[in-house]
Amino acid sequence: MGTLAGKTALVTGGSRGIGRGIAERLGREGARVAVHYGSNEAAAKETVATIEAGGGSAFAIGAELGVPGDAAALWAEFDRQADGLDILVNNAGIALYGHIQEIQEADYERVFAINAKAPFFIIQQGLDRLRDGGRIINISSGVTRIAFPVTAAYSMTKGAIDVLTHTLAHQLGPRGITVNAVAPGIIETEVLDGLPQEQKSQMAAYSTFDRIGQPSDVADVVSFIASDDARWITGQRIDATGGSALGL
Ligand code: NAP
Repeated sequence: MGTLAGKTALVTGGSRGIGRGIAERLGREGARVAVHYGSNEAAAKETVATIEAGGGSAFAIGAELGVPGDAAALWAEFDRQADGLDILVNNAGIALYGHIQEIQEADYERVFAINAKAPFFIIQQGLDRLRDGGRIINISSGVTRIAFPVTAAYSMTKGAIDVLTHTLAHQLGPRGITVNAVAPGIIETEVLDGLPQEQKSQMAAYSTFDRIGQPSDVADVVSFIASDDARWITGQRIDATGGSALGL
């Protein structure tokens, strides 16, 4: 029996990248996983198939985030296939590169709508569905600790996620719900496909382990936070950057 047997989990952006790694790991631990996607249904179905091939249970739900009514649409899809949940992982997000001088207002609004506003309203509208003793796990980023001027607006969205995390942890403690953020460093996803090896080596060097992280490096941490073993941890930002930028 896995550590999450009998639990239902929802992973936003569970179709690809880090979210896929998280969905698959939670599925291996015995949770029934709602694998959310925005537009790439085929990728979500692949994740579902992988979980099922491992003996787990999963289903795909589609909802574009960052648009009016996104949270309500997501929960309507979820409700069609599940009755309440125990673990909510707010993972879906987009990157936005540019120094403050370069960021256009529309791009700023979009990155905030997807990375910060959507998780806020997904949680707001999910609170009645989330069972007491449950888990909310928000995917933050190393950029809330390490300054990256080239991701100024994106970094701010993750700062908002960190604040939401400890604020809600305070409110939801009486229900036995823990709220934590997991902050990955540079992780190997499709975004890095095609980058020159030299650039990848520079990225690897941020970590004290001198390698780029894998989705499983983050998923293993999320799985622990989702488990009963982590019941006494709440309101925390857990750095999962492989010791990036620890010193000069
Ligand atoms: P990814 O490979 O690009 O996957 C993003 C996931 O989010 C996909 O499942 C995608 O679904 C979904 N998504 C994106 N925009 C959406 C939208 N508007 N509506 C609905 N779904 C949407 O991303 P990733 O690198 O795994 O990143 C996952 C999370 O980790 C993000 O919050 C990111 O900020 C954070 N993070 C990543 C890194 C890194 O190095 N990769 C580092 C630190 C933090 P569709 O394909 O269907 O749109």
